[in-house]
This record gives sequence, structure tokens and C-alpha cells, in this order.
Amino acid sequence: MLIVQKYGGTSVGNLERIDEVAKRVIKTKEQGNDVVVVVSAMSGETNKLIEYAKYFTDNPPKREMDLLLSSGERVTSSLLAIALTSKGHKATALTGRQAGIYTDNIHTGARIDKIDANKIKSHLKKGEIVVVAGFQGITNDGEVSTLGRGGSDLSAVAIAGALRADLCEIYTDVDGVYTTDPRIEPKARKLDMISYDEMLELASLGAKVLQNRSVELAKKLDVNLVTRSSFNDNEGTLITKEENIMEQPLVSGIALDKNQARVTLRGVKDEPGIAAKIFNRLAKENINVDMIIQNVGLDGVTNLGFTVPENELDGAKKVMYELNASELLEFDPKIVKVSVVGVGMQSHSGVASKAFDTLAKENINIQMISTSEIKVSMVIDEKYGELAVRALHEAYHLDRAE
Ligand code: ADP
Ligand code: ASP
Ligand code: MG
Repeated sequence: MLIVQKYGGTSVGNLERIDEVAKRVIKTKEQGNDVVVVVSAMSGETNKLIEYAKYFTDNPPKREMDLLLSSGERVTSSLLAIALTSKGHKATALTGRQAGIYTDNIHTGARIDKIDANKIKSHLKKGEIVVVAGFQGITNDGEVSTLGRGGSDLSAVAIAGALRADLCEIYTDVDGVYTTDPRIEPKARKLDMISYDEMLELASLGAKVLQNRSVELAKKLDVNLVTRSSFNDNEGTLITKEENIMEQPLVSGIALDKNQARVTLRGVKDEPGIAAKIFNRLAKENINVDMIIQNVGLDGVTNLGFTVPENELDGAKKVMYELNASELLEFDPKIVKVSVVGVGMQSHSGVASKAFDTLAKENINIQMISTSEIKVSMVIDEKYGELAVRALHEAYHLDRAE
């Protein structure tokens, strides 16, 4: 088999951990597999590098940030190759450029355009273990780019897709995908399987166990994706096509996104084109707008609210002041989004009302709501985020298998 294994920050968090990872990689290799390893930076390293830059300015040049941030993964990939070699195995470490990962030129949030896997293949052919620095690529102009936070998952899936690997294993510090973040709800239950679509929703709505774009790509390229722990040998969670899952529960999981902020414009002119103007400008600035609420207007004015990722709030503020669309602007970073996800919702009613009931019983005010076929999301005060997760987990009986 050809197996791509990705090890996240805590899995390669120090030299002993890298040594443990080397042993696991060698075991996989000695079972007769070809192995490509993708690594993250040591845990905390990327944040530390960002803080270093922030010492000088709040708005460092993105090109230089990419050069800086890509260094974390270079350290772990070369150290792992050194560890493997010291144990008598042939191993080669490659940067994103050397691995042939080509991206667009959106620095710090690049998308992968194509992968030229020839170099990886030629090393595999020689019987070597290939270790690729995750989270990074190269633009057509030869500039170093990074793929956005958590982007090593995407590197691994993209490489698995390009190599048509039999399996892509994402090793992390939890046994797999749980019904909710086990750090918030210790009663959370590990799922044996989850569909790509549900995993994509959970990941997009805050469950950082997998980066959302990696799930999207795994679905598109039909990559067999498994998340599991690098700290034990427990079986992980298979992320797969919906039709492979026999019993589909009504609700699969609860996600909490703490990285959200709310923007409210009061007294906006209620006339055609206003929303287009506001959201076009935000799009032009690459600001990701999520939930949008607009009320029915009264006396020619209306209120408009939307959410953006917290780290894009400053950008959104700037746009709002420039557009001058409302005299009464409100910016609230102290909110979170809690979401209930499950494909079973499509065919059952009452899932959303149960969520609202549950929060009402806890006296938690819902500021915004948005729903899709397979999710219900609610914006609430950040101080109730974890309480809401636990209450919803209980309400849908997620601690026990159906
Ligand atoms: P890595 O550094 O290995 O990429 P991350 O910290 O990015 O690891 O992701 C793993 C973390 O995701 C876990 O430690 C856990 O706290 C969190 N998490 C959030 N939601 C879930 C969930 N539904 N299932 C499992 N883990 C989750
Ligand atoms: N090191 C990067 C981050 O912390 C990428 C990753 O770990 O996947 O976001
Ligand atoms: Mg991660």
C-alpha cells in the first residue's frame, strides 16, 4: 500500500515525540508499505512566529509572513528525516517547493493549484521514506506561500490525492472525530465513521480536528481519510461517503467556533443595492462573511447584521467606516457560534426547535440563527459557549450510540 501519514503539532511537539513518530513511520514501512509523511510545526511554533512578527507591527507584510511561518514545518520535516536516517532507514525531507506543491499567490491563505508529484515518486521508487513539510507551497513566481491555519491537513490530503494513495492518516492528539470537542465535553463519544459532508460542516463550524478545506478536497478526490491518535494504537475515525455508513444518526456532532465576531449596522437605508454594495466591498478585501441577518425595513430604514472571523474584524471595521452605510455601527468580538450537525436532519423535523428549546432552558439568548439542510447554527454570547455545547450534547443524547 501507499500510505500518507500526517502528524500534527502535538505529535511532533518535542524531540522525544519526533522519535516516537519515527518509530511509527518505520513500523508502517516495515509492514511493506510505501510511506510519505507530512508534518506540522512543533505545537505552539506557528503562534510563536506570529507573535514575533507582531512585536514589530500589527500588520506585517504577508509575503514575509509566509517565509517566516514556513520555517516551522521545515524544522520538523528535516528533524524527522534525520531521526529516520539515524535508525537505519533511507529518508528524504522536502519543502513544499521541493515536493512540487504549486499554489495561487494569496499569501498566508494560498490555495493549491496543482501538485507535481514526480520528485516524491522518484524518492519512493528508491525505497526512501519521504517527509514533506506541511502547510506550504510555492507560487508560480517562485514565492513561498502558506495554506492557512491547520493547512498541513490539506497538504497531506492533496499529496494523497496526487499520488492516488491507498490511505491518508491524520495523526493528532485525540483518537479520532468525536461527537464534540472532548476537551469541552468529556462525555463526547468517538465516531467510527462520519460522512465527508458532516465532517466538512463540523470542520467549517469550528471543529479543528480536521481543517475544512482538507475534507472538501478529500471528498472531491475520493481520498480514504482516517484521523487517529499518535499517542496510542486505537482505531480512529474513517471519513467516507455517506452511502458507506449504515446507520445514519439524526445528529452527528456539535461544533463551537470561538473565532467569530458580529457586525451590526442599524438604520441602514432600505433600498435596492445596499447589501450588494456592502458585501461586494467585503469580498474584495477577502473578508469571509458568514451569517447574515436583515430585518424587514420600517420607515425606510432597516438593520443588518453579519459575522466575520474574529481576525478579520479590523478589516471589516475599516470597510464599514469607509462605506459610511450606517451611523450606528456595532462590533462585538465577544460572541461564539454553536452548531448542531447531522445529515439525518434532512428527513426529520424538530431538530432545530430542540436546539432553541435547549438554549432557552439554560437561559441563553440566541442572537442570530442560520440553518442549512444538515446544520443549525446559533450565535450566542461567548461566555455561554461551552455550556451550550454540553447542554446540546445532552439534549441529543450524543453520549450514547443510538
Ligand atoms: P493537530 O495539531 O494534530 O493538527 P489540532 O489541535 O489542530 O491538532 O486538532 C485536534 C484538536 O481538535 C483536539 O485536541 C480537540 O481538542 C479538537 N477538537 C475539536 N472538535 C473536535 C471533535 N469533534 N473531535 C475531536 N477533536 C476535536
Ligand atoms: N503549523 C500550522 C498551524 O499551526 C499548520 C498546521 O499545523 O497544520 O496552523
Ligand atoms: Mg490541526
